[in-house]
Order: sequence, then C-alpha cells, then structure tokens
Amino acid sequence: MKIALIAHDRKKDLMVKLVSAYKHILEKHELFATGTTGGRIQDATHLPVHRFKSGPLGGDQQIGAMISEDALDMVIFLRDPLAAQPHEPDVTALIRLSDVYEIPLATNIGTAEILLRGLDAGFADFREVVHEMDHTPLSF
Ligand code: PGA
Repeated sequence: MKIALIAHDRKKDLMVKLVSAYKHILEKHELFATGTTGGRIQDATHLPVHRFKSGPLGGDQQIGAMISEDALDMVIFLRDPLAAQPHEPDVTALIRLSDVYEIPLATNIGTAEILLRGLDAGFADFREVVHEMDHTPLSF
C-alpha cells in the first residue's frame, strides 16, 4: 500500500510518535510525505520515505496529484484545526480529492490509529468492495 503522511507544524511531534508506535506496520508499506514531515519521520524512525516539497510550497498538491492518478491508498493528514495555514486552499483540495477518489483519510490521531490497525488486519481494501458494488448507493 502507498501511504501519504502529512502533519502541520504543531502536529509534527504527534506524527513522529504515531509513526514510531506503528513502525512495525508502516515498514511493510511505501511511504510518501510532504518535505518537513518526511524529514522528521526519517530522522526519528529511519524508515524510507519519498519526500515531496514542503506543504506550503506545493507538497500537498503533489500528493493530491498522486491521488488523482490512483497512485495512493491511504492518507494520514494531521492538520492543525487551531491555526490558519497560508496554503489552506491546498489543504482543502487534498481533502476533497481524497473524497472524490474514496481514499481512506485520517485527519486526526484517533482515526489514524483505526486506519493503521485496519491496515494491519487487512481491512484497507474496502475500496474494492465499493467498486464491486458498482457505486450503487448504500441503502439503509
Ligand atoms: P511540511 O508540510 O511537512 O513540509 O511541513 C505540511 C503541510 O503544512 O502541509
């Protein structure tokens, strides 16, 4: 699986803790990250990470481009809901593209842990279920 990791500045320590705690799972997958987040992860965990540009310089858009090419399977985006970001349009666009392409997206640590545990349990292929349903809306 190809997994993108992004953290806003005040969430970077948390991202490092998350990746360290789930290293045994993440090391089995291909990791991508925005520039600074990726550097912090590499320094702390020594995991190989493909690093894009820093978020405010286009990194979020590069990850969005991967999503639009169906080249990513999961996004963990620890965004900071309490600080304005200069690249807010890019942040919104990345979240939007994740929804357009039905990519599992965690924007906080609680969901991130569930996704990673689901990934370890083999649940992350749920998009295949959706595709098998031929996009028929779920009925309740
Ligand atoms: P960064 O980018 O990892 O380069 O800090 C993250 C972001 O702010 O989108």
